[in-house]
Amino acid sequence: MPGRIPEQFIDDLLARVDIVDVIQERVPLKKAGRDWSARCPFHDERSPSFTVSPAKQFYHCFGCGAHGSAIGFLMNYDRLEFPDAVEELASRAGLKVPYEGGREAPREDATDLYNLLDAAAKFYRRQLGENETAREYFAKRGLDEANLARFNLGYAPDQWDALKNALGTNAQRIALLEKTGMLTSGERGTKYDRFRDRVMFPILDRRGRTIAFGGRVLASNSSDHPDRENQTAGIPARTFQKSDGPKYLNSPETPLFHKGHELFGLWQVREANQKIARLIVVEGYMDAISLHQFGVTQAVATLGTATTRDHAEILFRQCADVYFCFDGDRAGRHAAWRAVESVLPRMRDGRQALFLFLPDGEDPDSLIRKEGLDGFEQRLKNATPLSQFFFAELGKDVNLTSLDGKARLAERARPLLAQIPDGAFRDLMLAELDKSTGVHVQIAAPADVAPARARSTRPQQRSLVRSAVALLVQRPALASALEPPWAFAELRQPGVPLLIELIGVCRARPDITTGALLEHFAEREEAKALQKLAVMDFPGGEDESRAEFLGAINQLDRQTESQRRSDLQLRLKELEMKGAAGLTEEERNELRQLLAVKEVRPQ
Ligand SMILES: [Zn+2]
Repeated sequence: MPGRIPEQFIDDLLARVDIVDVIQERVPLKKAGRDWSARCPFHDERSPSFTVSPAKQFYHCFGCGAHGSAIGFLMNYDRLEFPDAVEELASRAGLKVPYEGGREAPREDATDLYNLLDAAAKFYRRQLGENETAREYFAKRGLDEANLARFNLGYAPDQWDALKNALGTNAQRIALLEKTGMLTSGERGTKYDRFRDRVMFPILDRRGRTIAFGGRVLASNSSDHPDRENQTAGIPARTFQKSDGPKYLNSPETPLFHKGHELFGLWQVREANQKIARLIVVEGYMDAISLHQFGVTQAVATLGTATTRDHAEILFRQCADVYFCFDGDRAGRHAAWRAVESVLPRMRDGRQALFLFLPDGEDPDSLIRKEGLDGFEQRLKNATPLSQFFFAELGKDVNLTSLDGKARLAERARPLLAQIPDGAFRDLMLAELDKSTGVHVQIAAPADVAPARARSTRPQQRSLVRSAVALLVQRPALASALEPPWAFAELRQPGVPLLIELIGVCRARPDITTGALLEHFAEREEAKALQKLAVMDFPGGEDESRAEFLGAINQLDRQTESQRRSDLQLRLKELEMKGAAGLTEEERNELRQLLAVKEVRPQ
């Protein structure tokens, strides 16, 4: 894990870049008053309801509610993870991202690792030109030049040290090669190339950088003489057995590569599709590439692992419809079930998971060759929806005509259905279970959902605290008008601690914008509320806002006095009842003063 990025840096970064530039490069913006507007890139619409505010440094869509800072925009639009979005903006601003407290070496190192892997990919690509057998392999698979180039396919020579000699020009580079998993060590510590005599598939991250490789043995070599190179000094004999290598070999887990988080081909999908309507998840690189070759340019492959929850989230972040392809045999259905388990917690409304089971002995590569694009599309059309596969699998060995069987099905389904996010899809699944078993399964709403609902039924009250927070979020500079100490800090009202915190942040960072401020609170549970307040409408300009803000603070101060007065009065009463000595002299004086002030009732 790379280290944490300090908040201070995020603030600085957001102060340096202009969100209008960042968005303008991706979405054509039109000036509309003080703001910029466009048709929303996150939902379909005819008239523009997407606005970008240069003053607040954030964007907001009044149609679909999308919103955020420049970082948030890159995460949603370029589909980057948070650290990558920060890296992207930082490189644009000419800043280096500082990381603190990571287990791995800081990212300074990472640049070297990326460069080295990029050089390795180029090396393998050149080697492909030199090797007839490897070129034949791809030719037999029907790959044209465009696809060889699109996937940057290559060949690792049949030598122990081809890559090591080409790139490991000094001890430091050899150490880096090892770190990227490109070298491996023999029993006596000799380092040699991990990938030998394999066709090579570079694995790219979501920014198109090479982070790892997959290598497939060339079939023609499986009958090679295992002892051929036994005489080479320093390398233990048993590592020479070429036949002991797996058919497919991936880079090991490295600081750059975590196979459970990556999908082969996703970069190419994004290159080929302006808007990704669907994704098709297959199990092999060649399957994914072959689908691309035949025109299914939305194919990705997992990297020798079952589908993880991280995969599911990444997939659904790209698009709403995800198809999973599996063999039709037992192993395939087992793998499909694991995909179901990963996907269920990600099934928010509007998302759809479908399962395509292939005929015996076929893989996506062989199938699309045989049936062509139309045949494959037809199969996708007939894919099994998640709900159908779910109940078919769970009910496989259950006798649904018996009460016992029905109870067992309900018992099995309950914990799984509980993982689906609250929404229409979960309700439908529960209704389906109800229908087939007659058992009404109830799932308790998560603790944080229930009170939110209860709250929303009450009429919206516009509290002073809320107004003050909203004004401050929209114009962080207002905080500079307030000098501590703040009397209202003692006020026992919801939102006061947040207001105090906001004032603190805004005063510490006088240039902070709305966007940066929201980013500061992005991980907090208050984030959603703050986003809403950031677009709350206040008539009037800067002066009016300032007056309204100071007015609200002033009233909060008076409410605090009033709170203190009732506190003291209550205490006085309690003490009297107990027959104890009254208030201290100090308290009596305070109360006297408070009573002299005109009474203000707390809301
Ligand atoms: Zn929108």
